[in-house]
Amino acid sequence: MNKEDLVRQIIIDHYNTPHNRVTEAPTGYQTIKGVNPSCGDELELYLKIDGKNNIVDVKWKGEGCSICCSSTSVLTEEIKGIQSQQELQNKIIEFQKLLQGSTEYNEDLFEDAIAYEGISKFPARYKCAFLSWDTLLKYIEER
Ligand code: ZN
Repeated sequence: MNKEDLVRQIIIDHYNTPHNRVTEAPTGYQTIKGVNPSCGDELELYLKIDGKNNIVDVKWKGEGCSICCSSTSVLTEEIKGIQSQQELQNKIIEFQKLLQGSTEYNEDLFEDAIAYEGISKFPARYKCAFLSWDTLLKYIEER
């Protein structure tokens, strides 16, 4: 499988079998919302916050295009194991660099999120890919 096919497969797999997607807001989670009117993507993220004020789990519900839904699924996996709000914020900013086509992001931070590297060639899809990550970033910055 060449890289392009692999990338497409990661996105399709997360779209068809979304990780951590729920049908109802789980109890004990805080809800934040993200909307991308230019595409029609709408989602809710549910955040579990521990006693040290860190976000330790993210679940989600929403409707949107394949890029938006798959990247949200990827986000919920990529945040696992993160120890602090600073580390999470840093990872989202690195993902933004990746989406923007920068060659300076830290590749070692990511697993499936690497699949979105090619998005910089499709600027209209950038907002789709970044919606859930951006929603979480804004929440962190405003806390
Ligand atoms: Zn979209």
